[in-house]
Amino acid sequence: MNFEQFFRSELDGLHEEGRYRVFADLERQRGQFPKARRHTADGVKDVTVWCSNDYLGMGQHPKVIDAMKQAIDHCGAGAGGTRNISGTTHYHVLLEQELADLHGKESALLFTSGYVSNWAALGTLCSRIPGIIVFSDAGNHASMIEGIRHAKCERVIFKHNSVADLEAKLAAADPAAPKLVAFESVYSMDGDIAPIKEICDVAERYGAMTYLDEVHAVGMYGPRGGGIAEREGLMHRLTVIEGTLGKAFGVMGGYIAASAALCDYIRSFASGFIFTTALPPALAAGALASIRHLKESQVERFAHQERVRRLRSLLDRNGIPHLPNPSHIVPVIVGDAAKCKWISDLLLDNCGIYVQPINYPTVPKKTERLRITPTPLHSDGDIDHLVGALHQLWSRCALARAVA
Ligand SMILES: *Cc1c(COP(=O)(O)O)cnc(C)c1O
Repeated sequence: MNFEQFFRSELDGLHEEGRYRVFADLERQRGQFPKARRHTADGVKDVTVWCSNDYLGMGQHPKVIDAMKQAIDHCGAGAGGTRNISGTTHYHVLLEQELADLHGKESALLFTSGYVSNWAALGTLCSRIPGIIVFSDAGNHASMIEGIRHAKCERVIFKHNSVADLEAKLAAADPAAPKLVAFESVYSMDGDIAPIKEICDVAERYGAMTYLDEVHAVGMYGPRGGGIAEREGLMHRLTVIEGTLGKAFGVMGGYIAASAALCDYIRSFASGFIFTTALPPALAAGALASIRHLKESQVERFAHQERVRRLRSLLDRNGIPHLPNPSHIVPVIVGDAAKCKWISDLLLDNCGIYVQPINYPTVPKKTERLRITPTPLHSDGDIDHLVGALHQLWSRCALARAVA
């Protein structure tokens, strides 16, 4: 086989379908977020980032940066091994205690990313519990799907956020089989929120465990940043709460929070936990500082929600269609892959605005979009500039306006 030719022809296919992914070469500037410098063939240009998952700008927070620097000065760079063999530092232990407390659980377990936490925890639960049936929301993230698929257990997909469909599918399954319901709180692409209470009610009725991905909610919702389940007083109803340290907490890593026995079980059996080097102590220290800060401070959460409201109202005033949802994610639907990429390129090249186009397969065809994520650090001027640029492009592309 001519391997090079094979790789190239597969990539050509992506280009033809308009699905080839291009990364923006950015340099974030400490203290300047959401401004960044972008490296191009024509030199370095200033851009405003409108699609970061550092939702609250905590990746720039002085407390987080100082904690990371101190940890490096104190312990050096890496963890030096897997958690099992010399990689557990006191920072990891403190961080797990902080996370358990954040979610009102007995215990928590760290992973190298949110992706790995879903893959490893679901993969282990679903492969090792004999006869388990997994009920998975149709909108679940790739990391959950891969974990469940890896387990080769029986799986049932229920309609996105449909309690009725979940209930019908639970009722149709073998009553004696162990069951797990896997879902998210805030869905990343539409920004809609699951009916957590109702899902817990149904799951309980059928004796199913519940596994909630709160990746797009931790740090941002609930009085201490525990997520939507905290805001709604439901954390105790969930068997497992999973989160990331890489989005609103601004650093990197993933975790689950659950009972002591469940966490110990995953710690003891999950290959994706056991056989990989632990997070560097500095990351654990930075995450710890970030979580502690957001447990106490409401300033970032309030400012975030206010910026989201302001952006939405200006989009409305200009007839730029965006999906209504109760979260901080503002999806502006373009509905055409080529136009979506084109608009994104023009925003970047001509206006210094960076919003990555989101195309199939991340979202269904005909719903291609710009997924805009305002942060507390976007100014009124930044918002005016973005909406003004979108307003002009909407006219140039002859895109449909929303009727006010
Ligand atoms: C980003 C994401 C993850 C993965 O988290 P990382 O820490 O980035 O690996 C998991 N679930 C959802 C819903 C996500 O959007």
